[in-house]
Formats: sequence, C-alpha cells, structure tokens
Amino acid sequence: MADTTVAGGAGLLERLARGPVICAEGYLFEIERRGYLSAGAYVPEAVLEHPDAVARLHRDFLHAGSEVMLAFTYYAHREKLRLIGREGALEELNRTALRLAREAALESDALVAGNVCNSNIFVDGDAESARTVRAMFDEQVGWAVDEGVDFIVAETISYCSEALLALEAIKAAGQTAVINLAIHREPETRDGLTPAEAAKRLEDAGADVVGLNCTRGPASMLPLLGPIREAVGCHVAALPVAYRTTEEEPTFQSLSDPGCGCLPEGRPFPTALDPFTVNRYEIEEFTREAQALGVSYLGVCCGAGPHHIRAVAEALGRRPPASRYSPDMSQHAFYGTSDQIPADYKAYKGNL
Ligand SMILES: [Zn+2]
Repeated sequence: MADTTVAGGAGLLERLARGPVICAEGYLFEIERRGYLSAGAYVPEAVLEHPDAVARLHRDFLHAGSEVMLAFTYYAHREKLRLIGREGALEELNRTALRLAREAALESDALVAGNVCNSNIFVDGDAESARTVRAMFDEQVGWAVDEGVDFIVAETISYCSEALLALEAIKAAGQTAVINLAIHREPETRDGLTPAEAAKRLEDAGADVVGLNCTRGPASMLPLLGPIREAVGCHVAALPVAYRTTEEEPTFQSLSDPGCGCLPEGRPFPTALDPFTVNRYEIEEFTREAQALGVSYLGVCCGAGPHHIRAVAEALGRRPPASRYSPDMSQHAFYGTSDQIPADYKAYKGNL
C-alpha cells in the first residue's frame, strides 16, 4: 500500500523519518463540551447529527498544528451502535466520519487516519470473543481503506491481546499501523504485561508505531515512555489526556476533588474534570520531555483544546497558523512592557 497522503505528499513513515508528527485527539470530550454529544455512551452520533461541529473541530485542530486528521470513529463500532439501538447507522457513521476528516485534511498538507478502539466486549483467552472483536475491527478497517486513509490508528486498548487483533486487521488490509495502549491505575496491560513488553510484542507483530494514549495525564504517562522507547526499534507515540494526574491518582478516572461538594457521581470523571485541566505550558514541557526520550508521534487526547495542540507544535519549533495569535503580553494594559502603556497602569499591576 502506497504510503502517500491524499494530497500526494509524504506519508506517515516518511514524515516520521524526518521528524516528529503531531496528532490531535480528544474529539469525544471536546464535542461533548461543545454540546453536540452525550457523555456516558460516548458514541460519536454528532458525525451524522452535527457534521458541521465535527468538521469545525477538525479545522480548529488543523489551524493549531495537527498534521493528522483522525477520523471521528472512536466508539463508532458495532457493539456501541448496538448498545444505543443504531446498528443500522454503523456504516454511514463510519464513512461520513472518514469523509469529514479527509475534507479537512485536503485543505492543508495533513494526513487522514482511520481509527479503531477498545471493543469493551473482549474477553482475554476466549476464542469466540476474539472472533467477534476481529470482525468488528475488520469492518471498520475496510471502510477506512475504502475511503482512502493514509494510515490507521488503533487506540485506547488496554489488553495487549486485543491490540494485536486490531493490528492484524490493519496489517491484513496492507495499512500502516499506529497502536496505542491505554494503561490504567496499575502500570501494566489488563493481560499483565508491562507497557514495554506489550510494545515489543506489537512491534514484533508488525506495528509501525507503538505507544500510549488516553487515561493518563502528562505526569503519569511520562515515566512509562522511557522503557517503551528502550524496548522497541520502531516509532513511539505519546498522547496523554489534558489533565493533572499524579502518582497516587494516575488516571483521569481515578482523580478525586474533595474541594467540590456538588459532584453528581462523586468523582470528577468525566464531566467535572475542568479544575484538573493542564495548561499549555505543561503540554509544552511534556512534549519536550517526551521528544527528548525519543518519542516522535505526539499529541494530546481527552481534554485537549486547540491551544494544547498549538503548544505541542510550538514545543517542536513549529509555527502553525494559530501561532500568529500566540500570547504577546508586552501589549497588555497593565502587565505590558510597551512604551505606549501608561506608567501608572504599569505601576498598578500589583493591585489587580
Ligand atoms: Zn482520550
């Protein structure tokens, strides 16, 4: 399969050979926050009901420096559509999401990625469930190939054995594969491998890029990346959630907020995580540290806004279109240093 973009430019592996590649994720959380999708089932019905909202977010991420338009097919798999009683819309949803990503990518020099994810019905060691899950991956991969993607991402999978099924489906279709694992509170896959061991197995099975995405924020993802980098020879990916996780609460599901007495579920996840949002400088720092470890497929997952993606780009020395509007505090009314700011306003800044 040719590793070229829809626009005829360099494909993913060619770009990674030259330097880091940026991929914005987190469509579910951002579209939910914008009011076009319901938290809970988290099915991307907005693709069909509000395609303009999805197209808008693709363009916002593109403007901010994302070089990959990831089709919004996360949880657009047969099991999820069955759960909400819309199995009949499965193919239309997938094809529409792929076309929305492609249309946005064509406006720039971006790549289009197909996307499959955790099935939530996989049972480790059960051949019947493996067949069912593989068939779910195969049909989504088939639609992605049909719609002309540049490569395919399998993400947020916490069993190495399930990730291997996704990889097999992607490779059977002759596609470049990015495989990202989600590591929960225990620093291992649900089938008991260290992230480094799992990454090695995935590389040995043919993955082109292996890494981690979602679940962990920058602080609790970073320590897992060095051992992965040492274990594999292929490209490594890192796309944390945009939340301040800690060693004690390493995932966004495990975060607690004792200072808030009005949490409907008793925990911040998933709709009250706002106070934990990392700022753009923390994303810049994470990007630089991950890059120094040798991670080259970089981005941000749930919680990401366009300003986080611009921070990834600028940490890598890029100047996406959104950098035209990067902060310039020299012209601020009180904190500014410009000669045109009145001296008494400058002197008043400590009173603000
Ligand atoms: Zn995520």
